Amino acid sequence: MVFDNKKQEKIASKISSKESVLDKWQDYKWQLANSVKTIESFQRLTGIEFSQEEKEKIEKTLLKFPLSITPYYVSLIDRKGYRDDPIFHQSFPSPSELVISKSDMRDPLSEEKDSPVCGITHRYPDRVLFEVSNTCSMYCRHCTRKRKVGEVDFIPAKKELIKGIDYIRKTPKVRDVLLSGGDPLMLSDGYLDWILGKIKNIPHVEIIRIGTRMPVVLPYRITPDLVKILKKYQPIWLNTHFNHPREITVSARRALARLADAGIPLGNQSVLLAGVNDCPRIMKSLVHKLVQNRVRPYYMYQCDLSEGLSHFRTPVGKGIEIVENLIGHTTGFAVPTYIVDAPGGGGKIPVMPNYIISWSTNKVILRNYEGAITTYKEPSSYEPIFCERNCQECKLHLDLEGAREYSATGIAKLLCDFDQSISFTPGQSERLKRRKKNGKAR
Ligand SMILES: *Cc1c(COP(=O)(O)O)cnc(C)c1O
Repeated sequence: MVFDNKKQEKIASKISSKESVLDKWQDYKWQLANSVKTIESFQRLTGIEFSQEEKEKIEKTLLKFPLSITPYYVSLIDRKGYRDDPIFHQSFPSPSELVISKSDMRDPLSEEKDSPVCGITHRYPDRVLFEVSNTCSMYCRHCTRKRKVGEVDFIPAKKELIKGIDYIRKTPKVRDVLLSGGDPLMLSDGYLDWILGKIKNIPHVEIIRIGTRMPVVLPYRITPDLVKILKKYQPIWLNTHFNHPREITVSARRALARLADAGIPLGNQSVLLAGVNDCPRIMKSLVHKLVQNRVRPYYMYQCDLSEGLSHFRTPVGKGIEIVENLIGHTTGFAVPTYIVDAPGGGGKIPVMPNYIISWSTNKVILRNYEGAITTYKEPSSYEPIFCERNCQECKLHLDLEGAREYSATGIAKLLCDFDQSISFTPGQSERLKRRKKNGKAR
């Protein structure tokens, strides 16, 4: 079947009256070429009519944040109830995008500050984000890199990407490369084959990841040819971005099945969005549908502080409430980790309800999802090992052949025995400035 339903057929026939459109609907290049980019074509395809006043407001929004929706994703919009429709909210501009709130930031995650070469964000010790595409098949209204959307839609030239590849090659700590963008699957099959080959060739790169929304907004991009290419570069992990159970259609399921059948582990990263999925019941239904399709819910993000997203933001409490409704209530691996990505570039911070209620030297008091309170008695015979990382002489006899040098950072450094650090303090605090003024060492 070319179409999932009658609505798709109707939209296709409005794009072109020719018979040939029947074989084109599932052609992703046709979908891209016929993407909806104006209010007029959106009205024509959906039958939705905006008032003159509304149109003027939307036009104004478009000047700053452009519009682009695939005919496929348009076909998921509920025409009658569009004002409350999660698909409509994610794809069609709202005048609220022009409201800049006090907390909004241009680049809230400070990606530009952590970029050693163009296209690379190197934030964590052993992995990098590599932006290989500056374009997407749909412009999500809640995009965290909204500032860049539609600026210049392009696929970087090979000589640009080679700079990123060279950085990875000369940085042996990088064992995980995450292709992002834009959408990396906007690259042609040939181009992807080239870049994956280049990265795969770097001996210290152990895994490649792809972050793409194609299975959601343009599932026809997941062709047998594409899957054949991805399969050559295993282990390759793919994360996609479903936000609402209604996005899991017949076409999306088919795309996911192709990827899973090829042995590509699939994950999902949702964003918590007001008016789209800020409800425990919707999220539960979403994660159930995901695991049915062999997709593991990976992260649920708190909406970032990027400009133009204030109308989508929920309190952090909403995310905790959702996680509270999932842990224990459903399959353990169907529960995503809830993440606040630290403004200023601190990276992802997991947030959870509290399960430890209290603690003494020999007991921990915990509660479960039902509210039952329990005690866990700590072992009385455990002898802590004073660890000086003298692994050769350790009775654990860990075979560390080929292991990396170990150095502790972060909170792990405070926890370990072999490092003398006892505290981390903000470098700029009044107290430290006072010490410096008094000629005391830090
Ligand atoms: C999210 C992200 C990663 C990957 O983080 P994981 O927690 O390993 O999935 C890597 N680099 C940057 C800059 C990121 O934002």
